[in-house]
Amino acid sequence: MVSQQECLFCKIIKGEVPAKKVYEDDVTLAFLDINPRNPGHTLIIPKKHFETIMEMDEKEATRLFESVKKVGEMAMNGVQAQGLSIAQSNGQAAGQVVAHVHFHAIPRFMNEAPPGLESILASKRLDEKSLDKIAEAIKGAPTGAPASEAAAPSEEKKPSKELSFEEEFGDEFKL
Ligand code: 5GP
Ligand code: ZN
Repeated sequence: MVSQQECLFCKIIKGEVPAKKVYEDDVTLAFLDINPRNPGHTLIIPKKHFETIMEMDEKEATRLFESVKKVGEMAMNGVQAQGLSIAQSNGQAAGQVVAHVHFHAIPRFMNEAPPGLESILASKRLDEKSLDKIAEAIKGAPTGAPASEAAAPSEEKKPSKELSFEEEFGDEFKL
């Protein structure tokens, strides 16, 4: 866990690390990504330090997304792009590198390949039964952060011989 003192984006908020700032209000800040995926690639962050969105309450998350919409549209129009992708990762498994909540607003241009979600993860096909099983599991799942291994050892979590979703679908998804 990165402390607030060492957090790169907290340093940008405090002005200790330079950034190309494009928008600021009382709770959010937006600046250009240092390694843009496209011209106008902008990061939108809360000024308060949270590692993931699971730590934010709904009001804080709502204010953040209001800025994401506003700044995303500014970024798209500022570089005369025709589309806009919004991306956001939580945790190492999702590929999050900087441990301070941030949304990527990436202006998109016609004739980019591959477009859409396919550019993030290739799509796969699952049969009807598998999709039903996954939908039921999601409907009954809690919100918040995933249960940590320490708090709930895997043996206790899964006493039956049932396969975990990772075991059952991992090959399909190359996990
Ligand atoms: P993540 O992979 O965590 O979703 O994205 C982190 C993003 O932060 C990356 O796109 C990376 O280019 C950007 N980044 C990393 N260090 C800096 C920095 O010092 N300044 C700025 N403006 N962006 C950074
Ligand atoms: Zn921070």
